[in-house]
Amino acid sequence: MSNSATETFGSNVFNDKTMRERLPKETYKAFRKAVDNNYPLDAQLASVIANAMKDWAVEKGATHFTHWFQPMTGVTAEKHDAFISPDGKDGAILEFSGKELIKGESDASSFPSGGLRATFEARGYTAWDPTSYAFIKDNTLCIPTAFCSFGGEALDKKTPLLRSMDAISNQAMRILRLFGNTDTDKVITTVGAEQEYFLIDADAYYKRRDLVNCGRTLFGARPSKGQELDDHYYGSIKPRVMKFMSELDEELWKLGIYAKTEHNEVAPAQHELAPVFSTTNIATDQNQLTMEMMKRVAANNGLVCLLHEKPFACINGSGKHNNWSLSTDKGVNLLEPGDTPEENAQFLLFLLAVVKAVDEYQDLLRISVASAGNDNRLGANEAPPAIISVFLGDEIEDILNSIETGALYGKRKKQVVEIGVTVLPKITKDTTDRNRTSPFAFTGNKFEFRMPGSNFSIAEANTVINTIVANSLSDFADELENSVDFMSALKTLIKRTITEHKRIIFNGNNYSDEWLKEAGKRGLLNLKTTPLALKHYLLEKNVALFTKFKIYTPAELTSRHEILLENYCKVINIEVQTATAMLYRDILPSVFDYMNVLSELIKNKIAIGVGATYKAEEKLLKRISVLTDSVCDKADEFAILTANVNKSEEELADYYAGTVLPALQEIRSLVDELETLIPTASLPYPTYYELINSVR
Ligand code: ADP
Ligand code: MG
Repeated sequence: MSNSATETFGSNVFNDKTMRERLPKETYKAFRKAVDNNYPLDAQLASVIANAMKDWAVEKGATHFTHWFQPMTGVTAEKHDAFISPDGKDGAILEFSGKELIKGESDASSFPSGGLRATFEARGYTAWDPTSYAFIKDNTLCIPTAFCSFGGEALDKKTPLLRSMDAISNQAMRILRLFGNTDTDKVITTVGAEQEYFLIDADAYYKRRDLVNCGRTLFGARPSKGQELDDHYYGSIKPRVMKFMSELDEELWKLGIYAKTEHNEVAPAQHELAPVFSTTNIATDQNQLTMEMMKRVAANNGLVCLLHEKPFACINGSGKHNNWSLSTDKGVNLLEPGDTPEENAQFLLFLLAVVKAVDEYQDLLRISVASAGNDNRLGANEAPPAIISVFLGDEIEDILNSIETGALYGKRKKQVVEIGVTVLPKITKDTTDRNRTSPFAFTGNKFEFRMPGSNFSIAEANTVINTIVANSLSDFADELENSVDFMSALKTLIKRTITEHKRIIFNGNNYSDEWLKEAGKRGLLNLKTTPLALKHYLLEKNVALFTKFKIYTPAELTSRHEILLENYCKVINIEVQTATAMLYRDILPSVFDYMNVLSELIKNKIAIGVGATYKAEEKLLKRISVLTDSVCDKADEFAILTANVNKSEEELADYYAGTVLPALQEIRSLVDELETLIPTASLPYPTYYELINSVR
């Protein structure tokens, strides 16, 4: 970082450093104590903090404040209030009370609630999450908050995430105590979310209804050169993109986000940003802000940042790699192999907690990344398939095998791994990070969940990961706490867990057909579409899990299920409407114009008596004409398929996935073929070639 970068880093964040400087010592101490121990803040404390926050924000030019929250729409929401208040003497003062800091009330009837908020009770409440820092954006002091209904049900993505962080901390503490650890007070989950995105020119973007409405192209023939040569990956960055990246870094640094590496991705026009990891809820807030800033900085540069999971067919889509680990409040990573036999035993237990969790709750992980957009990407040989498995690498698999069967392990095959006795070899990062096809890969000291789509909030995925691992740890603790001899109970538990859950471990190529077959034999789930995945959401075992750890109430789960289904149907419906509009308003008129040109040509030639030489024109006209007929026939069928569908939400989702999307795909293939026969200048919108090369 340059000097100016280190100076501006975090300058727009009311972070710990600023609080220490700005708050009276006693207030700061009381605040820290409350946050570290999850105590509620008392009114007096809140009002001192609010005042200091306001003074700081006003000095930085802020005029408004907002409770910034993450409703179920997936984007963040804010409602701005001015600091300004009448002073009673025709003047004005700037005010911000403790009450305004801690709690907000908003008329939230337009946010999705899945039936949780009855219409007569439209109020929603926002409550400050003091574990995430307040920040300034657009002259507005933004206060990260949780959002709930009048009855206290969560209406957002942050509340369950915070609950899940508590749950995993509590359960991990039980395990640590069993290993004689007395100095840890809390266990923290950490996340680093790598973000992929496309940049295209704004002029090209606005010429396409599908990109504007749906975020992805619904038509478009494969370009003659796409990503085949892999020449974009880590390639040199174009000046316009360079400018975007450096402006983005600057904006993110001001917000205290350690944007670290930026590079070109595999697909042309695709790029990636990786931040330095932080606590899960901060990482989640920061990822939301990163996406927002990407869009904004792009717009300032005449670009559009596409965050859709699959903007272009035949070209890799974008994902978000969710790197997840857990560590003690003293900074010890619990997924890092240790140097002593005891540390290794503990490491293996935590590792197996994750393996068991992923095996038992494959469906919940799949649901946490389920959306109409991501369905286009998963399993398309560019992202993991819809089948969940865990990659551990050969070294660890060898170790687990030795523990389970008593086989000799390692290159020299000299020893059997014995829990509590063997010092494990250093697991090298290189060997664990090689497999890029796995949905859930151990990468040396963390797991990388590679299924989330680029457009997702990472809140759901991490809520699920935290909860299911908490559940494994809780099962383990129940068993070990009741044992007479800890070491022998531990050995039995580890061995049994390997036997019971090894089916989920797979180190091979997840994109291969052999895996598809093998996974079927192992009885692993393959929930290919969002509607299929959602059928698992309310299974008894899942409701039991979430209620056991108080992550969701049954009512909250039902409402989320409904929102997800509804959202899926809405997205497909918009795609249907958009495709139809493009077909009749853009594509067919252009095709007819060109056919007219060709037939005029033929007519003129006939008129001047050179009839023998119109073969080429006639041939082309015929081809286009036949294809156009097929397109129109398909479009008629499609219109019948999609008109007045009278079904329940769940039936509708199944129908969209099973019938409507395949029909749309058939029309697309025909239209794409047609596109290749029409001159570029006669096409109603920019082609793939123009789109992916639009940024110079
Ligand atoms: P790569 O995936 O290219 O090998 P890295 O291993 O450097 O890259 O890290 C990828 C992401 O993982 C980064 O965002 C990084 O901050 C994050 N990360 C590293 N360590 C942890 C951890 N202990 N917990 C969570 N995320 C982590
Ligand atoms: Mg990665």
